[in-house]
Amino acid sequence: MIKLEEIYQGLREFKQLTGRPQQTPGAHFSKVRPEKAPNPKLLCWSNGLASAMGIKDSDKELWIKLLSGNQDNYIPTPIAARYGGHQFGHWAGQLGDGRAMSLGQLNGMEIQLKGAGLTPYSRGADGKAVLRSSLREYICSEAMFHLGVPTTRALSLVETGEDVLRDMFYDGNAAYEKGAICTRIAPSFLRFGNYQIHAANHELEELKELIDYTIENYFPGMSIKEMFGEVVRRTACLMSEWMRVGFVHGVMNTDNLSMLGLTIDYGPYGWLDRFDPNWTPNTTDFREKRYRFINQVNIAYWNLAQLKEALQTVCLDNLDAQLDSFPDKFHHFYQDIQAKKVGLKTCERQFIDELFDLQYDLQADMTLFYRSLMVVMEGKEVDWQSIFYKDLTNDDRNRLDIWLKKWQREQKLQRVDPMIAYGVMNESNPVFIPRNYIVQLVLDDLEKGDETSLRNLEQAILNPYELNEFTRPFYKKAPEWSTSRPGCSTLSCSS
Ligand code: AMP
Ligand code: MG
Repeated sequence: MIKLEEIYQGLREFKQLTGRPQQTPGAHFSKVRPEKAPNPKLLCWSNGLASAMGIKDSDKELWIKLLSGNQDNYIPTPIAARYGGHQFGHWAGQLGDGRAMSLGQLNGMEIQLKGAGLTPYSRGADGKAVLRSSLREYICSEAMFHLGVPTTRALSLVETGEDVLRDMFYDGNAAYEKGAICTRIAPSFLRFGNYQIHAANHELEELKELIDYTIENYFPGMSIKEMFGEVVRRTACLMSEWMRVGFVHGVMNTDNLSMLGLTIDYGPYGWLDRFDPNWTPNTTDFREKRYRFINQVNIAYWNLAQLKEALQTVCLDNLDAQLDSFPDKFHHFYQDIQAKKVGLKTCERQFIDELFDLQYDLQADMTLFYRSLMVVMEGKEVDWQSIFYKDLTNDDRNRLDIWLKKWQREQKLQRVDPMIAYGVMNESNPVFIPRNYIVQLVLDDLEKGDETSLRNLEQAILNPYELNEFTRPFYKKAPEWSTSRPGCSTLSCSS
């Protein structure tokens, strides 16, 4: 038997459910029921996470039933959380878990189904998720975890056996796609928007309750001020981590920013292949590029300011100093991480900027570029052309040479021990990131009924800092076709 503990205990439930969708004033959550998947098929299961959660192998079948909506005996009532958010800079009012349902928690971990059907927060949509986006979420959550980036995790991916209608690029070409449910795991899925919705609606008692709940469960012993300072710190850390691995979230709305500083809600995200600070994969954001790689840190700051506004409606202490500490906190993490990436003890902002300019102008593959610096340290030859997307001219090669000499001079000046530096670089620069095209190829193969590439990818994400039989095939530039193919360089929110 599976026993789960209830979450959101003591918080306010919205009881008068009268059909959907609806506003749920004053509520923190609503009770919901997952839909039963008609023909569930387990596609992915995270063994590592399952054993960390204390899930026994012998209970796996029961779990699969539970995670496909087919087991309603043993769970406390599932809930959908209410939250609001600023979407693309504008207040969007109530949003909420439109297709996510939390079943309860096990050993301090909240278990949430994504794609299990309608909730009072589904607004005009169907509460379902397609295989394409669910696989992307599953793979990226687990990959991020093994990369060492704070993230929500994924326990399972189940095909529901039901087809779901989607207009992938909002161009009137709707088509049926396979439906799926991804089970997400985190200590909590609380977002900035959970607090904002109460402040926006002047529900101050409810806001206080939610803050008390948050502090008691996730920031024990802290004042609101201390909690906010900690959220600022974690968010600053997260932004520098995304920049370390070349991750672009794609939809950094305030409803997609985790109170615990985790990467949350994998939608139209992407990875930098060719280094371009202004890149975003999200087609909805192509004009403004609000959520482009280099702007993520500014947006995080802006989002924290919105959270501050919400908290400030009930917090008597002034939270300005905590918010204002964000740039310094970020630069502290950022400079440290960027120094580690190039095997230096410290590095100035100007040094990093120059390195970014070089990578951008010469069209470096970000992942390969940093690993190639390690090859230089080994005293081996690098085939530079194989890591740049641009055909290198003599001028380009000279520029690269000048930078490499400057870098080596800096290592000497800082009396860097090459062995130690190499070790630090090895931990800071992955050889493998789940580039968009790789996941797209897996989806193509699944379409043909072939799971081999999925199984290989599941292995590759386990050891992203190691060149092995699973990561080596992807230790190369992204193929030319991937720069124009939908699902690789362009993605939409339609999932
Ligand atoms: P996102 O941009 O994916 O973070 O979603 C923004 C809001 O839309 C959230 O409240 C989601 O729960 C909701 N949403 C997205 N897709 C669906 C869907 N297929 N059905 C119901 N709600 C959805
Ligand atoms: Mg979201």
